[in-house]
Amino acid sequence: MRIAALGFHHETNTFQSVKTDYDAFQAFEFLRGSEISEKHSNAHTSFTGYFRGSEKYEFDLNPLLFTFTGPTGTITKDAFDRITSEMVDLLEKNGPWDGVLLAQHGGAVSEEYPDMDGQVAYIVRQVVGDKVPVVMTLDLHSNITQKQIDNTDAIVVYRTNPHLDPLERGVEASEILVKTIRGEISPVQHLVQVPMIINIVKQPTGFGPMKLIMDDVKEVMANSGVVSASCGQGFPYADVEHMGVSFLVVTDGDAALAEDKAKWLADRAWNIRADLQNDSTPMGQAIEQAATANYAGKPTVIMDVGDNVGGGGTADSTHLLAEAIKYGLNGEKCLLMSLFDPVAVKKCIDTGVGSSIILNVGAGTDDLHGDPIEVTGNIRIITDGRYEEPTPTHGGIRFFDYGLSVALDTEDGFTLVLHTVRGVGNMSRQQYYSMGINPENYRVVICKGTVSPRAAYEPIAREIIMADSPGVTSADMSSFAFTNRRVSLYPFELDTEFV
Ligand SMILES: [Zn+2]
Repeated sequence: MRIAALGFHHETNTFQSVKTDYDAFQAFEFLRGSEISEKHSNAHTSFTGYFRGSEKYEFDLNPLLFTFTGPTGTITKDAFDRITSEMVDLLEKNGPWDGVLLAQHGGAVSEEYPDMDGQVAYIVRQVVGDKVPVVMTLDLHSNITQKQIDNTDAIVVYRTNPHLDPLERGVEASEILVKTIRGEISPVQHLVQVPMIINIVKQPTGFGPMKLIMDDVKEVMANSGVVSASCGQGFPYADVEHMGVSFLVVTDGDAALAEDKAKWLADRAWNIRADLQNDSTPMGQAIEQAATANYAGKPTVIMDVGDNVGGGGTADSTHLLAEAIKYGLNGEKCLLMSLFDPVAVKKCIDTGVGSSIILNVGAGTDDLHGDPIEVTGNIRIITDGRYEEPTPTHGGIRFFDYGLSVALDTEDGFTLVLHTVRGVGNMSRQQYYSMGINPENYRVVICKGTVSPRAAYEPIAREIIMADSPGVTSADMSSFAFTNRRVSLYPFELDTEFV
């Protein structure tokens, strides 16, 4: 059984000013053939799940191409054309195939295709034809469309946020594919798009209303005849018509059952829509709460929601840093945070470890993310920014590369980690351990994320506060000028109806 596996994986924040071009994919991760096994066969990604699936279900897995980059702006037409033509080439040259596994995100937007993932599925379907099963895995932040459904035999979506289960979903996709090829099942999919969004601060699946939704999904999965059930939380920072929440049920040949269960899930989520909206904490209050908390060896972690690197944040917002300075936060090891700032890193490298320096940090990308802030500090260490995370954290990535990085201890007692690769985020504490920094030792840790750093920081945090900071990933959805989204869509239009 010969299975092809490919992925063109991107979460696109269309409000980000920086477009995502071919070089951005090349610079971050662009793997072919054995390079994919080297990097993914022992990680926790959906591709890792394909490798595990190939052992468990005994098929010949042919990893052809996998590329992804951190969530940045709209993908250029040139990048889309070059990457998809290589995918087509590889599929054609190395075929024929018994089946295809596609590791997509579901939230990708290119200049030409608002539903880029649907177009990728369509292109793959054109190459392999209707008789070769195609199963696609998607991120929980997917904006799922009928086009994606129409061009695949089954879609399997992560069920956790932070995403700790991509590997398991990759195995699940492999099982569905193999059973379909063997003729043991005939998957039928039904999609219901709900006219609502789930605010980014309400997206963790471990507690609260999102847990109720995922419990419903599990309940549907337990029905005989149901092959798979999924929720697409939606990626709200994509200004596209299909942005929003959706439910997808795959059954074994029973279209009525798939429709019935998908509608049931959609109705249940719609009924709790008011509980799924923004309730983040004003920045000043977040800093004060963290500064006055009883530390006792457990940091208070503030999520910089407006600069959520996992959602397209620029990684250099200084809004919360400015707020901490305004509040007068100081004292030994009072604050730890990272900032993307290649210019400051260069200055620190030129100055050298152990020296003191006065320089501006942060806010170098645009004017949405605060102003550069002047700090005086001591350059503690310079590293290559590479670290390895052996345990499953958000997305299941094992090898990280933050680019050349500098730890700067300021005279106020802040430790600022300045780095040169943007889209990595704070998903692993190894980022700091690899520089000899223990985040546990700081009273306040600011993370550039909303949900994705939770898996790494929940175990050491006294409390996690979602700060209502401005930026390209703000929780305040009224701060975005949407022109393509559906109308009506709750909560933009509070009188939205769903029938
Ligand atoms: Zn996601």
